[in-house]
Amino acid sequence: MASPPQATVENPRVLPPNHTHTTFAQFIQRAASVCSPDNVTPTICTPCTTRGSSSPRQSYVCPRDVGEVQSILRLCNELTMPIWPYSAGRNTGYGGTAPRVPGSVALDIGKHMNKILEVDVEGAYALVEPGVTYMDMHKHLEETGLLKELWLDVPDLGGGSMIGNAVERGVGYTPYGDHFMMHCGMEVILPTGELVRTGMGALPDPTASSRSDLRPDQQAGNKCWQLFNYGFGPYNDGIFSQSSLGIVTKMGFWMMPNPGGYQAYMITFPRDEDLGAIVDIIRPLRLTDPLSESEQDEIAKKLKLGRWIFYGAVYGPEPVRNVLLDAIKGAFLSIPGSKFYLPEDRDEPHSVLRTRAKTLQGIPTLDELRWVDWLPNGAHMFFSPIAKISGKDASMQYEVTKKRVREAGLDFIGTFTIGMREMLFNRQDEEQKLKARWPIRQLIQDCADRGWGEYRTHLALMDQIANTYNFNDNAQMKLNEKIKNALDPNGILAPGKNGIWPRGYDRNTWAI
Ligand code: FAD
Repeated sequence: MASPPQATVENPRVLPPNHTHTTFAQFIQRAASVCSPDNVTPTICTPCTTRGSSSPRQSYVCPRDVGEVQSILRLCNELTMPIWPYSAGRNTGYGGTAPRVPGSVALDIGKHMNKILEVDVEGAYALVEPGVTYMDMHKHLEETGLLKELWLDVPDLGGGSMIGNAVERGVGYTPYGDHFMMHCGMEVILPTGELVRTGMGALPDPTASSRSDLRPDQQAGNKCWQLFNYGFGPYNDGIFSQSSLGIVTKMGFWMMPNPGGYQAYMITFPRDEDLGAIVDIIRPLRLTDPLSESEQDEIAKKLKLGRWIFYGAVYGPEPVRNVLLDAIKGAFLSIPGSKFYLPEDRDEPHSVLRTRAKTLQGIPTLDELRWVDWLPNGAHMFFSPIAKISGKDASMQYEVTKKRVREAGLDFIGTFTIGMREMLFNRQDEEQKLKARWPIRQLIQDCADRGWGEYRTHLALMDQIANTYNFNDNAQMKLNEKIKNALDPNGILAPGKNGIWPRGYDRNTWAI
């Protein structure tokens, strides 16, 4: 009998809990026999270690198909190996590919599973695998001529995975900007290895399911899987977002039918506190001290920008756009000193408005990464609380946040994103890790005291934020733990994600 392929096992920097070098090596050898040694580290797996932003000493498994994901999960259950899945690994600002439990094995789902499975113009949807990035989808629409028909919604950085971003409930800026809301149908592998299709996907396609030679994941989906979200019975999809309850291997997305035209615009307001989006234009400045109010006023004047800048776009044929723009101008230009710009009104080649104009029509860019150039060796840590859309709440949130950032001696970079009924405030800055973490820890409590909660967070803050969602003696956390322990009895999938600790992990010891 042929001997199984062998993987060279280097010692990981940190062993997973309850593992020895021997049991860890056993896992690596068996994972290599499932996915081939090329797709398992700590053998050399260069493509895996260059994706995302993780440590080359983190252990990786890169399954080639759904069947291999299932086998790896079964192996993790057998050997009680914690595993941390990701799709593209570009979760910058929220922890990258790092796991919550040190030593967890990283599961790189998107390296091989990266196909656009379907783009349907009539239904205006796409079905994709985890490795498909916004850039990939945009290129596909461009190359197939489908951009004339369908528009994509993208986050500020286009290199991320459509699935990775949507399962984290990430956002973009067109009317299709709530990516989880705009998904339709999922294929998910549960922690114990079973494969589930949600919504209409649970009803087999009559032709596909008669093919006994195909595994369930290879069968075509129901024709309505990407058209109607709910199917029958409880709606399951939500429990697989920001979740440690399953690995998403296929997901459907609604796309915006070409609205018939588009116009980006920018309005500047002279008196305000936030440098916001202008910082990437003035990135050559290298400052060690926070900017004073008068320096910020000076920069805004020099760049012909305001202290507040509002970006937006209107969609539709020209006569419709003109009516909408007139209404927008009428509302905003009543503020003394405000100015309205179209992209062609600004002569800087790299104006933020030009970048936004791309994002607002679904063209992915990486321009916003330049924000980190504000400081040498800059990095990100986001703080993203949700509040009611009102002038009073916005001003209060801004004051509370700015005060803490000032106390830490940092410059402030912030944006407000207006959703359907909620407003997301996004503070981003890191001069030194500890220096940045202090105001965020204070702010989490400051915000909770005012009824504002974070919509998503960095690994280091998950426990603290989960603790603020504590209505009725932490009833929601108790529910989450019940579901977690039922679906993942050995606690192998992303333990600790979003503050949910499976039985077997003592919350008091693990929480930070
Ligand atoms: P991944 O790293 O692949 O996944 C993120 C997490 O989701 C994983 O850690 C895992 O917990 C879970 N996950 C991923 N795939 C799966 C799966 N298949 N099954 C189960 N769980 C899974 N984000 C926004 O949403 N909007 C923005 O406008 C935005 N702007 C940004 C601007 C800047 C300057 C920076 C630095 C970041 C920004 N981000 C933004 C944050 C981040 O870059 C994106 O959200 C990015 O899309 C996340 O990375 P990813 O898609 O590669 O996710």
